[in-house]
Amino acid sequence: MNSKCLARSVPDETLCIFCSKSSGTLHLCSTMALDHELRKMAEELQDTTLLTKIAGGDLVAIDAKYHNNCFCSTKISTEVT
Ligand SMILES: [Zn+2]
Repeated sequence: MNSKCLARSVPDETLCIFCSKSSGTLHLCSTMALDHELRKMAEELQDTTLLTKIAGGDLVAIDAKYHNNCFCSTKISTEVT
């Protein structure tokens, strides 16, 4: 009997990884390009909350979701600083 059941915990599955809210339209992080960009932004901003969330695996694997607005404003803050 093979019982390798990888019970993967998916934290905040239906919440925005930036603001941790579920309201509004959430987009699924479905590409590795987005994963890389987000990781870079989190590191640049030293956003430990975000870094903790993405530390568990790539965003595609953990089914991370985000608001377009949150993504844009985070991206802007990395560009301003
Ligand atoms: Zn959000």
